[in-house]
Amino acid sequence: MKEILKKVYYCEFCKKKGLSKGHMIRHESSCTMNINRICRFCGILESKNDLPELINKWKEEKPIKSNYDQVLSIPANIYDGKKLMEDVCGCPVCALSIIRQLKLDMFPNQVSDFDFKKLMSSLWDDINEEKCQYEY
Ligand SMILES: [Zn+2]
Ligand SMILES: [Zn+2]
Repeated sequence: MKEILKKVYYCEFCKKKGLSKGHMIRHESSCTMNINRICRFCGILESKNDLPELINKWKEEKPIKSNYDQVLSIPANIYDGKKLMEDVCGCPVCALSIIRQLKLDMFPNQVSDFDFKKLMSSLWDDINEEKCQYEY
C-alpha cells in the first residue's frame, strides 16, 4: 500500500478546504465570507460594489434585540430582498455575501423574498441570451 502525506488548504473565511493551493487562493479572493472579496460575478455584470460599506449599511439597517438582550442581526423575515438586490446593483453573489456575513439567514424557517438560486439561473439565462445575440 501507499501512504501519502498531503497538504490541505483551508479557507480563512469559511469552512471550505481543498488540496489545491491555487484553487484555494482563487476561492479566498472571492469567498462570500471575505469582506474584501473581489466579486467575479460583478465582473460579468460589469458592476461594482463596495462590500465593506454595504455591510456597514445593512448592519445598521435594523439590529433587533433578543429576549436575552443580545443584539442579533436582522431575521430573514424582516430584511427586504428587493432592497438588498437594489443595493448590490443586481448581483446575487454580493447579496448572498452580505446575508452570510451578517447572518441575515440565521432563522432558516423564516423566508424572505431573496431566492439565490432563482436569481442566479435567471441572470445566467439573460447573460447567455445576450451572448447568443452578440455572436450571431
Ligand atoms: Zn471561503
Ligand atoms: Zn457581486
